[in-house]
Amino acid sequence: MAEFTMELSDEQKEVRDWIHGFAADVMRPAAAEWDEREESPWPVIQEAAKIGLYSLDFYAQQFFDPTGLGIPMAMEELFWGDAGIGLSIVGTGLAAVGVLANGTEEQIGTWIPQMYGDAADVKVAAFCSSEPDAGSDVSAMRTRAVYDEAKDEWVLNGTKTWATNGGIANVHVVVAVVDPDLGPKGHASFIVPPRTPGLSQGQKFKKHGIRASHTAEVVLEDVRVPGHCLLGGKEKLDERLARARERARGTGERVKNAAMATFEASRPAVGAQAVGIARAAYEVALDYAKERVQFGRPIIDNQGVAFQLADMRTQIDAARLLVWRASWMATAGKPFTSAEGSMSKLFAGETAKKVTAQAMQILGGNGYTREYPVERMHRDAAIYTIFEGTSEIQRLVIARTVAGVPIR
Ligand SMILES: Cc1cc2nc3c(=O)[nH]c(=O)nc-3n(C[C@H](O)[C@H](O)[C@H](O)COP(=O)(O)OP(=O)(O)OC[C@H]3O[C@@H](n4cnc5c(N)ncnc54)[C@H](O)[C@@H]3O)c2cc1C
Repeated sequence: MAEFTMELSDEQKEVRDWIHGFAADVMRPAAAEWDEREESPWPVIQEAAKIGLYSLDFYAQQFFDPTGLGIPMAMEELFWGDAGIGLSIVGTGLAAVGVLANGTEEQIGTWIPQMYGDAADVKVAAFCSSEPDAGSDVSAMRTRAVYDEAKDEWVLNGTKTWATNGGIANVHVVVAVVDPDLGPKGHASFIVPPRTPGLSQGQKFKKHGIRASHTAEVVLEDVRVPGHCLLGGKEKLDERLARARERARGTGERVKNAAMATFEASRPAVGAQAVGIARAAYEVALDYAKERVQFGRPIIDNQGVAFQLADMRTQIDAARLLVWRASWMATAGKPFTSAEGSMSKLFAGETAKKVTAQAMQILGGNGYTREYPVERMHRDAAIYTIFEGTSEIQRLVIARTVAGVPIR
């Protein structure tokens, strides 16, 4: 197990600088265009695939980096480039983590490569948990998966919403109810392979920010998937359900639910994305404050502006430290005994929202226009207190964890 370090190795710095180059040279110049188009930026994803930045190999390398800093470092640089395009590049990762968290080795080997495709034929994947009546409250999930034993197939019915890459994905990972009496403990995750009949895209959402990332409903009508598409396999599911039923009777140990396992693993990475957006806005504001002259001196010479920049920088560094700690803990196999993953996402998300608003203020009228990027960054940052668990839900998780009360 690697010790916690804040010092990147020479090799990590090389990777960081390489991603930074792509973010600066390819993502930033394209950011405003794809924000206006409100479409998935396929040419940019293809560029990323060509250089190996959008690939299973790259993410696996960062994911298995023993220091735990590979993923947060990569996320911060990409989202420093642009959050909407960044999410289009890393959105597949949430589905991949869903498979890594719950799948067998064979499932990981079969499905994750199909999520990414290759440089000549780029693909994306979607993770579908949220539903119109089940956002924060996953126990209200209605999408049903029923086992057809005669055919060894699962039949999925329901409507998923807010799915990043929903409907345009090659592979969809769908969380569904297999035993309605068990609440979230009766959920399981399924792979829906490419071109499976019955899966269709519903409404595509027009959003406030991260507009280059595709978000849509996914409708499942008698979607039949083979038995081997149940993540973790039937035997493991039956054991898990039996344990959950025992626990419901008051005798068994706690059982994790499928969506929770995915979110827990991905929270620090999402926090790192927020750090990238905040840093980008802070840098624009700092440069502007040094150049903009009012009352005969640069505006940074006013303590009111300088202190804002000092607070922005302090909060960004604090957010990064929380993210790096949680990522290291997850990699080192240390349990989040104080909900450190949630802490990192909560603080980084709130920081991104606040810092981007302050950056807009420092740019004055210019900050409010689309001539400057901070207005887009502020719109993009707003999602970081909402998705992957709202700030309120993160506080709830932290409070229950530190109080020793079970998280439902
Ligand atoms: C752009 C975008 C992309 C997304 N991508 C995905 C994806 O790829 N896959 C996926 O499955 N989902 C995705 N989501 C869904 C996202 O995770 C949910 O929007 C989020 O979990 C909140 O659920 P909700 O929108 O239903 O809000 P609600 O749960 O209805 O919450 C509304 C408000 O009530 C508050 N609230 C609710 N319960 C409590 C409580 N107990 N205590 C205090 N406050 C509470 C919330 O904090 C919030 O402020 C995405 C959403 C967006 C907007």
